[in-house]
Amino acid sequence: MNQTEAAGAARLVESPEEIRRVVQAARRTGLRVGFVPTMGALHAGHRSLIEQARHDCDVVVASIFVNPTQFAPHEDLSKYPRPLEADLRLCSGAGADLVFHPSVPAMYPAGMSTVVRVEGLTRGLEGASRPTHFQGVTTVVLKLFSVVPADVAYFGQKDFQQQAVLRKMVADLCLPIEIVVCPTVREPDGLALSSRNVYLSPTERQQALELSAALRRTMTQLEQGVRDIPALQRELRDRLVAAPGVVLDYATLADPQTLEELSSWQPSVVALVAARVGTTRLIDNMVFGRWQ
Ligand code: AMP
Repeated sequence: MNQTEAAGAARLVESPEEIRRVVQAARRTGLRVGFVPTMGALHAGHRSLIEQARHDCDVVVASIFVNPTQFAPHEDLSKYPRPLEADLRLCSGAGADLVFHPSVPAMYPAGMSTVVRVEGLTRGLEGASRPTHFQGVTTVVLKLFSVVPADVAYFGQKDFQQQAVLRKMVADLCLPIEIVVCPTVREPDGLALSSRNVYLSPTERQQALELSAALRRTMTQLEQGVRDIPALQRELRDRLVAAPGVVLDYATLADPQTLEELSSWQPSVVALVAARVGTTRLIDNMVFGRWQ
């Protein structure tokens, strides 16, 4: 063990071949490997995933890779925050053993012509507003799973459609990895943590609170026994349309498995919202009932 490891610092690995070798060697000795893929700009939401992996597994790998193919040309790829030093500290503090931080050419070698696309689940919601997004996500995550052949991978409920799409990909392709979805971590005032929250001005941050407040109200109504789904959906939408500074993209009550919009009550419901606050696009969701 070297000095850095003795101090509990995660080991930074840039080479796909090396991380695969390390993970395979750990698994050959019977160790359980947990994997937390991220795009960096880490916060307490990411930390909770790493901590869960630390709790469940013998070896914890986090990855930091700002995946260009999940951004549309007009989106924020070039300005996406990349505070690598702080990210490495957070990974180490949360208990990661290894941080995989590949270059873009390492993940997308010149001439790469393979993509992974999940049909159906990717059509609506985020897929409607960001038509190329999920193909970028599934392609990079499958490649990450290949390079980091872990036992289990951790994702956040915050990106609800993403976890549904990735679970479908894993099931459809019989990938030998388990997916664990962890709850959304929020600020004390309800705002879901997101790497994009740093774009919000103080006024916009205040305005953004309406997303979680509106979702919370929908959940409270469901908990109180309100069963009129179309009325709840109308109210959620109306509240967000009326919110100052919030430009609503969608607000919908859906089935947590299929993500189909609901027309009547059922025991499990996910409420999903997306909106622009200033120039920042935010998403959030809350679930009523059992869903996983
Ligand atoms: P990202 O870096 O945004 O690609 O996110 C990496 C992982 O962290 C994804 O599985 C996200 O769903 C998860 N994540 C992001 N924000 C949160 C949050 N507030 N709470 C829990 N998980 C989160």
